[in-house]
Amino acid sequence: MRVLVTGGAGFLGSHLCDRLVTDGHEVIAVDNLFTGSKRNIHHLLGRHDFELIRHDIVNPLLVEVDWIFNLACPASPVHYQYNPVKTVKTSVMGMLNMLGLAKRVKARILQASTSEVYGDPAVHPQVETYWGNVNPIGLRACYDEGKRVAETLMCDYHRQNAVDIRIMRIFNTYGPRMAVGDGRVASNFIVQALQGEPLTVYGDGSQTRSFCYVEDLINGMIALMEYAGPDAHEPVNIGSSDEVSMNELVTTLGEVLERDLDTVRQPLPQDDPVRRRADSTRARQRLGWQPRISLKEGLTRTVEYFREVLAASA
Ligand code: NAD
Ligand code: UDP
Repeated sequence: MRVLVTGGAGFLGSHLCDRLVTDGHEVIAVDNLFTGSKRNIHHLLGRHDFELIRHDIVNPLLVEVDWIFNLACPASPVHYQYNPVKTVKTSVMGMLNMLGLAKRVKARILQASTSEVYGDPAVHPQVETYWGNVNPIGLRACYDEGKRVAETLMCDYHRQNAVDIRIMRIFNTYGPRMAVGDGRVASNFIVQALQGEPLTVYGDGSQTRSFCYVEDLINGMIALMEYAGPDAHEPVNIGSSDEVSMNELVTTLGEVLERDLDTVRQPLPQDDPVRRRADSTRARQRLGWQPRISLKEGLTRTVEYFREVLAASA
């Protein structure tokens, strides 16, 4: 299969490219290198079955492919709020371009959507049938609403043009190849701990998330893309059903590093969701998917990665 991966030089995208070439596919990675890095895919460059195109998906792209994974979009609040208008353009115009391509070449397309479509959820845990609670005018809206419109476009192209769609609602995923300066909580805490700095806990640290290790996430992504049931066009949550507060994350990281970690409180960002937990029943029933890597094991592997990166940059 010829496969297009937008955002292919990013954290998740680079792991997906690895998996696809291992599975014997030919991969075209497209990235504007805003938050991604050539380092993430350095080991793939030069292979006959891998190609990187430096391209921004707000502009049309003409390639012949069988599958499209649309992952291009900054995912960390720091980066998606840096240029919020561009974030909306990436989600909306990028999605339109990728759906136009999928329609033209009759490719199956998977959109990397997000648990952020549930906003600050009034239903807990979050099940796919819940419509969400998003502030449309807040600082996070460029990302949350952009992703919601992207889902709308996916469904309209499916109904109107019979495009073969997959919508994956990804919950907080962490692991090797997150950027040192990514800004999301797992990489922030690990980098701070390894550098002997206090961990920046926003608010009182009682807010919760479902954390998923990258390897589990990629297994779910491939399983969803390959799934061909009559309900394949419906959104599927991929996330852990363990709910972890930021204070508990500090404790677990302390167990991994075998020492107590200092923390410093910082203000809670605007509209930061209070609770988040994936209802992953649909993923389990339809895809046979469930996460296998515990938080402690995933953090251990991620700590190893950041140790090496920090040692190399020193
Ligand atoms: P990331 O920032 O590492 O990767 C995003 C990639 O997209 C980067 O390589 C970036 O350079 C590229 N990109 C951004 N805008 C682009 C544009 N206009 N044109 C071309 N390339 C562009 O983040 P990630 O964690 O790997 O996220 C990948 C996808 O998964 C994103 O769409 C994100 O919204 C989604 N997602 C991730 C998580 C998570 O926890 N990691 C959760 C929910 C959704
Ligand atoms: N967070 C934190 N310290 C940090 C970075 C994030 O306490 O250094 C908190 C943040 O307020 C949020 C949670 O961790 O409640 C997850 O944040 P992240 O940016 O990783 O993802 P998102 O908010 O998009 O789920």
